[in-house]
Amino acid sequence: MNSFPLPGAPVFHRSENGALMIEDLGLDELAQEHGTPLFVYSQAAIESALSAWQRGLAGRDALVCYAVKANSSQAILSLLAQAGCGFDIVSGGELARALAAGAEPEKIVFSGVGKTRREMQAALEAGIGCFNVESEAELLALNDVAAACGLTAPVSIRVNPDVDARTHPYISTGLRDNKFGIAHDHALAACQLAASLPGLRVAGIGCHIGSQITEAAPYLDALERVLDLLEAIEAAGVPLGQIDLGGGLGIAYADETPPAADALCQLLLARLDARGHGQRRLIVEPGRALVGNAGVCLTEVLYLKPGEDKSFCIVDAAMNDVPRPALYEAFHRIEPLQAAAEGAPGRVYDVVGPVCESGDWLGRRRLLAVQPGDRLAVFSAGAYCMSMASNYNSRPRAAEVLVSGDMARVIRQRETIEDLLRGELP
Ligand SMILES: *Cc1c(COP(=O)(O)O)cnc(C)c1O
Repeated sequence: MNSFPLPGAPVFHRSENGALMIEDLGLDELAQEHGTPLFVYSQAAIESALSAWQRGLAGRDALVCYAVKANSSQAILSLLAQAGCGFDIVSGGELARALAAGAEPEKIVFSGVGKTRREMQAALEAGIGCFNVESEAELLALNDVAAACGLTAPVSIRVNPDVDARTHPYISTGLRDNKFGIAHDHALAACQLAASLPGLRVAGIGCHIGSQITEAAPYLDALERVLDLLEAIEAAGVPLGQIDLGGGLGIAYADETPPAADALCQLLLARLDARGHGQRRLIVEPGRALVGNAGVCLTEVLYLKPGEDKSFCIVDAAMNDVPRPALYEAFHRIEPLQAAAEGAPGRVYDVVGPVCESGDWLGRRRLLAVQPGDRLAVFSAGAYCMSMASNYNSRPRAAEVLVSGDMARVIRQRETIEDLLRGELP
C-alpha cells in the first residue's frame, strides 16, 4: 500500500528529513500548535481541483455546483464562492451556510428527496437558480409554496436513469430500487405536470448516479439515458433547458485511478456535441472530488496494545471525527507525521479510537512503527468527515485549519465542554 503516491500529492509530501508536509508547512508543528484531533486542509488543493472542472468546461454555458454536504465549513465555501463556484445544497441549513459564505443565489441548486415547505420558501425567497425535484408530490408542494409567496420556482426534474447495475455494480443512487430521483418511466408525466403548474417553470432535467465513481463509462451511459429522455420529453411538447449531471466523481483513497475532472468534462461535452446538444447549459455537482484529498485528520497515538492475534494502536481521533470507516468500511491511508527511522521495527495494528463501539476503527491491519505520543495523519479526510462529525461519547468536535503556502489559519475552533452542554435543560 505504501508504494502508492500519497493521496493529495504533491500538496502532501515528505521533506528530506521525513516530515510530512502540507504545502510549505510541517503537519507535526500544526498538530503541536493546535492540538489533536485536527483537520488540516490545503487551499491550493481545493483551488486546483475546482480549476480542473472549470478548465474542462471552459467556453461553455456551464456551472460547477459544489455539493456542500461534502464539507460545509464556511472558509471552504467562501474560497470556492470567490473562485466562481456554485453550490448544490440539500437543506435549509446548507442554504444559510452557502449564503453566509458569499454564494451567488442564482448559482445555487437545491437537491434532496425531502425538502420541507419551510426550506422551499427560504430558497425561493433567496432567489436560488434551481430546485432539483425528486418526486411528483414534491412538485405539487413546491407549486403551492411558490404560489403562496407570489414567486415562480425554477425546477429541474431529477430522473433516476436506471443505469445498468451489472455493468456498473458500484452505482448506488442511479438504480430503480433507490429512493433518489423520479423513475425513468414517470419522467415525461412529471415534466408535463410541472409544465402545467403555474408556480413552476421547467428549467431542465438531471440525474445523480452515485458516489466514488472511478470510471467515465457510467457517466456517459447516464448521459445517453438522460438525452434519450430529454429528446422524448421535448418531442412531447415540454421544452427542457439545462442538463444537470450530478456529482459522484471518485478520488484516490488507495490505488483507484478516477478520470481527471477536465478529461471527464471533455468526454461529456463531446457526447453532448455528438447528439446536437452542445449549446445546452450544463451543471455538474462534484463534492468529494473538490475537497476529499485536500484534507487530513491529524491524531496522536495514546496507547499501544500488542496482542497475540491482533494489536491495537489507540489514537485520539475516533469514529465521531472520521466516520467513513465505521459507516462504509471505507479505507483511509494512515501515515506517521514523522517517518520512522530506517530499520525501526514495525507491527501490524488496527488503528482504533476511544469510542465505546467495536465499529470505532480508522484503519485495519496497518504496518506502523510508532510509540505513544507519535502523531499520524489520516488521509483523504477533506470530504464527509468534519461534515459528518458528531459529539458521540460527548466528544467535542475537532478544530480545522486551512493552509495556504506557509500560512495557516484556524477556520473552526475546537469545541469546548460549554459548547457541548449549550441548549440543554436540566
Ligand atoms: C452527495 C451529492 C453530490 C456529491 O457527491 P460526491 O460523491 O461527493 O461527488 C452531488 N449531488 C447530489 C445531489 C448529492 O446528493
